Amino acid sequence: MRPEELEEKKNKRKRIAKIKTFMICFFMFFLIVPSVISVIALIRMERLEKSILETRNMIEDISVRLDNAGIKETASAADPDVSVVKNEVFLSSGEDYGTLSNSRPKTVSKKVYLTFDDGPSSNTERILDILDTYDVKATFFVNGHEKYDEELKKIAEAGHSIGMHSWSHDYSDVYADLDSFADDLDRIHSHILEVTGVDSTYYRFPGGSSNCHTMDVYECISYLDAKDISYFDWNVSAADAVSGTKSAAQIADTVIKGIEKEEGECVIVLMHDAAGRGTTVDALPGIIEAVMSMEGAELLPISGTTEEIHFR
Ligand SMILES: [Zn+2]
Repeated sequence: MRPEELEEKKNKRKRIAKIKTFMICFFMFFLIVPSVISVIALIRMERLEKSILETRNMIEDISVRLDNAGIKETASAADPDVSVVKNEVFLSSGEDYGTLSNSRPKTVSKKVYLTFDDGPSSNTERILDILDTYDVKATFFVNGHEKYDEELKKIAEAGHSIGMHSWSHDYSDVYADLDSFADDLDRIHSHILEVTGVDSTYYRFPGGSSNCHTMDVYECISYLDAKDISYFDWNVSAADAVSGTKSAAQIADTVIKGIEKEEGECVIVLMHDAAGRGTTVDALPGIIEAVMSMEGAELLPISGTTEEIHFR
């Protein structure tokens, strides 16, 4: 073979080797590399799927627990005896993801003070018997009715509060001027002290503090202040002293609705202990039972801590 032919054959072999190398590289690049990438991608996708599944389970878990918490809240609000006030939510992993604090609305509390003006009277004993039956203490704002001193004594012995409602209950006399007001106050105060031993520090203006038209009521209020005497008007009236006799059912209805309507914590109910007010006494059991059945309400006698309701 000639040297030229040998050289050409050598070059041909080299070209074939180059083509083979190219072909190998071509396959390597277009077959192996994508396969490797695909495998890596598959592994990652699998991990991602697992992660998504875990997250979904976690969300469902939280959702179920929130629903349960909501049911508990509803139940506790409907049933006052259920004392659940806080629902804590944890994930199933045991990890604390925080606390959901759902405070139950506080039960509305009402302090109801039954007050009886104008006694003692022929009805006092019946009122005392009813209060005793229900083991309830009330407040009697009394006048100077000496013939009922025994009843006055019984009011004190039963543990009810005794307040002053003036001696005479005669507007033209009590509100004539400050001297007249002071004399009348001193007389009823001394009488209560003498008969019962109670040093009364509670006062109710005859007709209420807005009833004083003949003199400046603030003079009277200042006088009471100087003597450390608190005065109490009312925010619920039985309207049992208006003209015409109301039935027991009407009185009870008026008082109960008044108490329910009153938004404040302190409810002072005006009623009368007087001859001719027998229907007030008849209404009393129904009123007491209604208040006792009101959630958060309690019947109390006026004391030094009672919120003072003032018209003036
Ligand atoms: Zn009165």
